Amino acid sequence: MKVAVVGCTHAGTAAVSNIASLYPEAEVTVYERNDNVSFLSCGIALYVGGVVKDPKGLFYSSPEQLENMGVTMKMKHEVLSIDSDQKTIKVKNLETGEQLEDEFDKLVMATGSWPVVPPIQGIDLDNILLSKNYNQANKIIERAENAERVTVIGAGYIGVELVESFQKYGKEVTLIDGEDRILSKYLDPEFTDVIEDDFKTKGIDLALNETVTRFEGTEGKVTKVYTNKGEYSADLVILCVGFRPNTELVKGQVDMLDNGAIIVDEYMRTSNKDIFAAGDSCAIKYNPTGEHAYIPLATNAVRMGTLVGRNIMKPTIKYMGTQGTSGLHLFDHSMASTGLTEKAAVLAGMNVKTITIKENNRPEFMPDYEVITLKVVYEEESRRIVGAQVISKADVTQSMNTLSVCIQNNMTVDDLGFVDFFFQPHFNKPWNFLNQAGLQAVQ
Ligand SMILES: Cc1cc2nc3c(=O)[nH]c(=O)nc-3n(C[C@H](O)[C@H](O)[C@H](O)COP(=O)(O)OP(=O)(O)OC[C@H]3O[C@@H](n4cnc5c(N)ncnc54)[C@H](O)[C@@H]3O)c2cc1C
Repeated sequence: MKVAVVGCTHAGTAAVSNIASLYPEAEVTVYERNDNVSFLSCGIALYVGGVVKDPKGLFYSSPEQLENMGVTMKMKHEVLSIDSDQKTIKVKNLETGEQLEDEFDKLVMATGSWPVVPPIQGIDLDNILLSKNYNQANKIIERAENAERVTVIGAGYIGVELVESFQKYGKEVTLIDGEDRILSKYLDPEFTDVIEDDFKTKGIDLALNETVTRFEGTEGKVTKVYTNKGEYSADLVILCVGFRPNTELVKGQVDMLDNGAIIVDEYMRTSNKDIFAAGDSCAIKYNPTGEHAYIPLATNAVRMGTLVGRNIMKPTIKYMGTQGTSGLHLFDHSMASTGLTEKAAVLAGMNVKTITIKENNRPEFMPDYEVITLKVVYEEESRRIVGAQVISKADVTQSMNTLSVCIQNNMTVDDLGFVDFFFQPHFNKPWNFLNQAGLQAVQ
C-alpha cells in the first residue's frame, strides 16, 4: 500500500506518525515544501515577544524522527498537481528544480491553509509581512528589531497576540480592523470591551471600523497605511486577516465548501474514497450548529490527522466534531470561549438566551480572589448549551473545556446547575461558577 502525504505540519505529522506505527508495512512518502515539520505557529507571538528564547522548542517532531519510523521524507518538495483518476502526483524538488511523478494507493491532503493577502495597492512593499510559518516568524523578528511603529492588520486572535508582544517589546502599535470590535468572532462585546480597555491603557492605538485602502512606501519599504478614515505611519506591517484552505491541487476532484475547504466525513474520507484530508485544508463538523464549518485550529488538525492514521485502511474511529474551543492570555487577563457567541448564534438564525454571571473565583475569606465573568449561550426551546465565554485575571480558562464537553454531549443549561464539581477554597467556591450559571438560568 503506497500512501502519499502532502504537507507535514500538524495534520500531516499526526497522520504520518499514526500510519507508520499502526501499519509499518505501508510505504509512506511525505512531500513537504518547507524544510521543517510540526512548527507551532501559536508560539510566534511568544517568540517575537522574547518569552520563547529558543525556537527549537516550537517543533515537536522532525524529518529525521519520521524517517526513523520508516517514512520517506521528501522535504523541500512541492506537489504541483494531483490526478485522482490515475492516482498520480507531480512533484518539484525545490532545491534542484527537478520534477518527478509518483503513484499512490491512498492520498492524504494535509496542505493546511495560507494567510489571505488582499489585493490592496502597495501590498508588495517590503516590511509588509505574514505570520504563519517558521521562516516568516524569523523575518518578523529580524525586521522588528529596527522598527519603531508597527501596524497589525486584523484583530483576530493572531493579530491581538502580536499586538501585545510588540507593545511589550516597546514598539508603538496600531491595530486596524474592519469590524467595530477586536476578537469579534470569539467573544461578545462585554468581553472584548475589557480587552480593548486594557489595550488603550497600554497605549495601543485601536483603529476599529476602518478598512485599509492602500500602503505607501519609500525606497520600496512601507512607511504609511491608509484606511477609509485615516493614515498611520508604520515601518513594519503584519497582515493577519484570515486564512484560506490550500486545496487548489484537488479542486474539482473532491467535494468542498464554497471557500475551498475539503468536506470530509467522520472517518476523514473525502468524496473520493482513496483521498483523505485533515487539518486546515478541511471543513469540519461544528457541533453547535450541526453544519460543516471552517475552523482552522491546531487542535482540530492533530485530532483529524490522528484519525486519518486510524481510518486509512478501514473505518475505525469516528470524529466527534468540534466546538472550536480556544483560549487566550492578553496582558493581565485570561479568556476562553467554546461554541457560539450570542452574536454568532443570532447570525446563524438560532433562537438563543444567555446567562451572564460575575462571581469571585475563590471564597472571600482567602487572601486574594479575582472576579470571573462567565456567559453561557443556550437555545431557548431545547435549553441545549451552544456556547460559552469566560474572562478573569485568574486562570479559569479550563472551564471552557468543561463546557465544550457539555456542548459535545448536548447537555442543557439546567443540567449544568447540578453537575458534580469539586470544592476546595484554593481553587473555587462551594457552588462552582459553572453550577451558578446553570442555577441562575433555571431561575
Ligand atoms: C500565528 C498563529 C498562531 C496560532 N495559534 C494557535 C493556537 O494557539 N491554537 C490553535 O489551536 N491553533 C493555532 N493556530 C492555527 C494552527 O497553527 C493551524 O490550525 C495549524 O497549523 C493547521 O495545521 P495543518 O497541518 O492542517 O496545516 P498547516 O499548518 O497550514 O500546514 C500545511 C503544510 O502543508 C505544506 N504544503 C502546502 N501545500 C503544499 C504542496 N503543494 N506541496 C508540499 N507541501 C505543501 C505547507 O508547507 C505546510 O507545512 C495558529 C496559527 C497561526 C498562524
